[in-house]
Amino acid sequence: MSITINTGDDPRKRLQVATDCPYCNVYARMTPMSLPDFALLRETQPKHVGIVYQCDSCQAPVFLRYGLKRADKYGIELYNNFVELERPPERFPFSYLPKPTEILFREALSCYSNNSYNAFASMCRRAASSAMEQLGESGRMQAFEELLVAQEIAEIDDATVELIKTILFETGSEEELPILNRRQAGILLELLKDLFYQCFVRRGKLTRAIKVRNLFVRDDAVNSA
Ligand SMILES: [Zn+2]
Repeated sequence: MSITINTGDDPRKRLQVATDCPYCNVYARMTPMSLPDFALLRETQPKHVGIVYQCDSCQAPVFLRYGLKRADKYGIELYNNFVELERPPERFPFSYLPKPTEILFREALSCYSNNSYNAFASMCRRAASSAMEQLGESGRMQAFEELLVAQEIAEIDDATVELIKTILFETGSEEELPILNRRQAGILLELLKDLFYQCFVRRGKLTRAIKVRNLFVRDDAVNSA
C-alpha cells in the first residue's frame, strides 16, 4: 500500500492521517502543516521523508516519517506505514512495583515509546526477572498462570504467547531473544502491564484500602468506648 501524490494533486488532501497524539493522547486526525519540496525530493532521492502535522485535537505539531518509494516528474509515492517519531508516554502505577522492578520497567516503557522494540523486549526480560525474584517460586507460578488467563481473555494466538513466554520466563542468553515486530511488542506491553497489575498493583491497592478501612473501624471503637 502506498500514497501517490501526482503533480497537480492537493498533497494536503492525500496526506490526511489519524493517529495517537503524543501530546494530548487522543486518537485524532492530523492535518499536514509542512510538506516536503517535491523538486528537491526528485533531485536528492532520499529514502525517507518527514512531514509535520498539526493535531486536530490539541493543535500540537506532530512529526511523522514516511519511506519514499518514488519521486519523479509525475509526482511522488510514499509507503503507507509511517513512523511516529514521538509517541505518547506509556502510563503505569509504578509506585506499587518493587523499586528495582520499577526502574527497569520504566526504562522498558521508554524504549517502547521510542519505537525500539527489541531494546524493549530485553528490558521486559530484566523487569520480569527482577519481579520474579521478589515474588519467589509461588509468585512465579502465579505470574505464569496470569499470562495464560490474559491470553484466553484477549484471545491471543499461541505463537505470539510462546514468544512472550520466552522473553519473560526463560533466562538464557540475550542472543536467544526473538526479534519483535511492532504488533508483537504491543501485545508484550499489554501482557506485562496486566501481569504486573495482577501480581503487585491489585495486591497493593487492596491491602492499602483495607488498612484505611481498619483505621476507621479502630477510630469508631475508640469514639464509642
Ligand atoms: Zn493532540
